[in-house]
Amino acid sequence: MTSMNRMDRRRFAAKLATGLAAATLAPHAARAAAACRPEALGTARVLPVKTDGGLFVGRKSYPGTLPLGPREVVLTFDDGPLPGPTDHVLAALRQECVRATFFLVGRMAHSAPALARKILAEGHTVGHHSMTHPMTLAQLPAERARADIEAGFSAVDHALYGSYSGTPRTPFFRFPGFGDSEELNRGLAARGIGIFGCDFWISDWNDMTPEAQLALALRRLDRTGSGIILMHDTRPQTAAMLPAFLRELKHRDFKVVHMQPA
Ligand SMILES: [Zn+2]
Repeated sequence: MTSMNRMDRRRFAAKLATGLAAATLAPHAARAAAACRPEALGTARVLPVKTDGGLFVGRKSYPGTLPLGPREVVLTFDDGPLPGPTDHVLAALRQECVRATFFLVGRMAHSAPALARKILAEGHTVGHHSMTHPMTLAQLPAERARADIEAGFSAVDHALYGSYSGTPRTPFFRFPGFGDSEELNRGLAARGIGIFGCDFWISDWNDMTPEAQLALALRRLDRTGSGIILMHDTRPQTAAMLPAFLRELKHRDFKVVHMQPA
């Protein structure tokens, strides 16, 4: 073996080590997948969602929904991040190896940027839910409504990525209280921002015990059969019942689909 060959081998080894280090550090997805317990629920598939020209999904508000098969569900959580309940929700999702979508409120992300980044780092999709969560954006003067939505995009992207380009990095939006309007919808659609309603909710804005919340969520799940589920990661009763709910999804042979921007 020549000295040149030894040099090449050393270079190759160094390169390999760098590559391995990068592979170990970079994809949170790979790390999470490696840590999945065999009995975990797991994410069945990723659904790339195109929003060019607009998208309106969720049968509670719109005629259509995502292309999901029977017993396929998309988990969504609104109104966070809130230290405490959101951490518990993340732990439950991690334990069962499932990915969800969080629609963050701008001022909440501004108050808890590290928690917003933790949601992203754990592989979840992070969408938008306005800046101050006005219950009916459609009843505000259009200019104020647009400004609140825009401030939300900016606050969430700043928390997550340190900057805002003028277009949200993940073009997914959910109206607070599903209070949309033709005019606001048109404006968002023209910017390629998808609007997400839901196919069923678990009414977790009403106070109830985690046991009652679990029973209600399972009844709605069985009745609806598939679709986008709306929950709130800010609600302690939801965080408390989530581990049992995810185990029940597995027992009842439901599949979790993770939506991502196409
Ligand atoms: Zn909300």
